[in-house]
Amino acid sequence: MAQKIQDKIEELPEIYSDFEKSADELKKFSACKIGCADCCTYVGNVDITTMEGIVIQNCLETFEKKVKSGIKKKLDKNKAERERGVLARCAFLKKEDNTCRIYDIRPFSCRRIYSIKQCNQSQPVVHRQAIELADYTISKMQQLDDTGYSGHMSFILYLLDKSGFRKTYMGGKFNPGKIMNFGKGHGIIINRFVKSKGLSYNTVYSYEKVLY
Ligand code: SF4
Ligand code: SF4
Repeated sequence: MAQKIQDKIEELPEIYSDFEKSADELKKFSACKIGCADCCTYVGNVDITTMEGIVIQNCLETFEKKVKSGIKKKLDKNKAERERGVLARCAFLKKEDNTCRIYDIRPFSCRRIYSIKQCNQSQPVVHRQAIELADYTISKMQQLDDTGYSGHMSFILYLLDKSGFRKTYMGGKFNPGKIMNFGKGHGIIINRFVKSKGLSYNTVYSYEKVLY
């Protein structure tokens, strides 16, 4: 019998934790600090899987009404900006102090990012090995979420807001034809069709091999 979506979602913390353990030595070089959020503003392209979208939606439901409606408006704005190819400030980034409203459950796209020097509106400088580990982690999530999709956070949350899509997904059914037009126009990835990445967390990297 196919694994239920909720059971798959419960595997996410372990997948995140496996990445953190593997990338720990590399992340010691990180220049990131609280309130530094260019990666959530100028250079970020926060893609999520549908599993992560459900986690975010469930979290949104716990917010007070006013905060929730403010975030929803920002997500609509994000979607429109992304459709025009504009880099959008994340809807979950707090204006007051540049911190993340959903930090504890933030998606993997946010967990993978760090930089060995302050970004100052440029791309983060990340170890090549961390990029490989992150790509492998995404591949693992996509294999697990094999009736789901990946794409920009505002697009995936938009889809999950549609009751028909959500019902099909939560029911474990796979029907990509239903979102074909939206998917093509918004760069949505069908997880099942992504080739798995061959890498193991047991790969040992020595610092001599570290490239910046
Ligand atoms: S990745 Fe860059 S912008 Fe983001 S917290 Fe780290 S240093 Fe700051
Ligand atoms: S979810 Fe949080 S960590 Fe991720 S981009 Fe948005 S504000 Fe930044």
